[in-house]
Amino acid sequence: MQTAEQLIIEAGLRPTKARLAVLSAMIHSHKALSHTEILTALQGVKEIDRVTVYRVLDWLQANALIHKISTDDRAWKFQLNAPVRRYKAVETASDSAQLNHHGLVSNHGHAHLHCQNCGTVLCIHELAAHIPPAIFATYQVSQIEISLKGLCPDCQQATA
Ligand SMILES: [Zn+2]
Ligand SMILES: [Zn+2]
Repeated sequence: MQTAEQLIIEAGLRPTKARLAVLSAMIHSHKALSHTEILTALQGVKEIDRVTVYRVLDWLQANALIHKISTDDRAWKFQLNAPVRRYKAVETASDSAQLNHHGLVSNHGHAHLHCQNCGTVLCIHELAAHIPPAIFATYQVSQIEISLKGLCPDCQQATA
């Protein structure tokens, strides 16, 4: 697994303490995190406050290191983008052409598992969107979301 510093430097960007702290928290979480969860995880880090976390999350999104996911309670959750290599492996040739042509939506076409009990959100990169090219010809698509909703294994056990 790459460190936060490697990810930022390989993207040609400048690491700061706040950027490294937020990205590290996300690397070490297998599930998507909300702004509040990131803030809580980084309690006690001097460079971190509410506004800084918002700013860093915007910056990480603008630089395509993370993406945001909408949830039922209207709070955004954030998750790392899949490493390019792994994502490429599951694309078909026609998908890559489509994604390259519409750079804006690359990395956003995968599915999310939402647990309706505990709110856990996981990225499923193996399930990618297959969107008819005609959609892109007629509609300016800024974000693609595929949601699978249900109960995570932990919550199934709790209700069994
Ligand atoms: Zn759950
Ligand atoms: Zn995702």
